[in-house]
Amino acid sequence: MRRKKSVLLASTILLIGLFIYFLWFASGIKPLAETESSLQNIKAKAAKLNENTNQPTLAQLVDMYKDLGLIDAHNHDASNRNYNGMLEKWKIYAVQGVVLFGDVSEPSARGSDKNAWLAYQQNPDQFIPFFSGFDLHDEASLNEVRNLLEQGYFGLGEVAAASTVSPVVSKVALKANDPLDGYLPQIYDLIATYKAPILLHIDPPSGMPIAKLEQALEEHPQTIMIFGHINAYNTPEEIDRLLSKHPNLYADFFAGFSVYNPDGGRNPEQFIPVMKKYADRFLISTDSGYGIESEELAIDAMYRILYLLDDPAVARKIAHDNLAAIIQAQSATRTQLELLRKLEHDTGKTYNLEKLSKLEAGKILAEVSKG
Ligand SMILES: [Zn+2]
Repeated sequence: MRRKKSVLLASTILLIGLFIYFLWFASGIKPLAETESSLQNIKAKAAKLNENTNQPTLAQLVDMYKDLGLIDAHNHDASNRNYNGMLEKWKIYAVQGVVLFGDVSEPSARGSDKNAWLAYQQNPDQFIPFFSGFDLHDEASLNEVRNLLEQGYFGLGEVAAASTVSPVVSKVALKANDPLDGYLPQIYDLIATYKAPILLHIDPPSGMPIAKLEQALEEHPQTIMIFGHINAYNTPEEIDRLLSKHPNLYADFFAGFSVYNPDGGRNPEQFIPVMKKYADRFLISTDSGYGIESEELAIDAMYRILYLLDDPAVARKIAHDNLAAIIQAQSATRTQLELLRKLEHDTGKTYNLEKLSKLEAGKILAEVSKG
């Protein structure tokens, strides 16, 4: 009798395990190759490279890191639907996910936000849509933000939370004067209920804008704030200070800026210790190659940073796991569940609606909309 019970228990555990694995597999962010062996594989390849060269080619780097599931955490290619021209390159360079949006805090961003959504509908495994076309000085923005998160967007950004130096962002119509301006405080509280992050552009990365950012982080501890291109015109010491003080702060590392932009000092090595120290809160991005030769070069730079980290486990967190965790923590919204219930009713199919994540719900709905 007792043995029967334990067999039953074991098979129940096995079934639950299989089910969880299925949920994970069904999600848009794909499961990665078996952790240990793939990390060992990278170590072996890196050692071989070190023997032969200290400046690997992009092709060598892609070959080495292709199983990390690299996600570009900051990409503007929804402007003018530029993503269409990049799809092939993302495939070649093993960029397996892209946080996609377009214009920054401008009325025109409403259009590019829609493009990001369309791209996601066509390709839910590749894109993670964010939005930025809301007027944070208008109370109506609260409803806009809620509706877009309900619809299935995963985050807000790139939002101009302060800008007086950037020749582009300082001129955008809907920018905030500081990270607590307008309805931003209410927006922070609202998005925390969805576990959705906000990607902030803040320049200069010092003085009043940073003091207000720190106040925002302290007053909204449940809100995930991602400091966009935190390495731009900033020091590793300041980044260390901010991350040590604020557990809800994440750091978006714009690799191309530090590797290829002369303004970045071409000394990316200086950031490696702080990236390792906060390996659970760094993300990596191209910023669509802003200020450097091309987006391709910005992808190359991401790989150079992963190589400099010289630690496949840390590289994987920064390339994939940290962002994937933020996205996977979001639950299916009421709006998504309503659509899925209707779908169940119309098709006779059933979904495990209580446990569904936003990622899973979004993928099912995208597949249906594709027809
Ligand atoms: Zn940007």
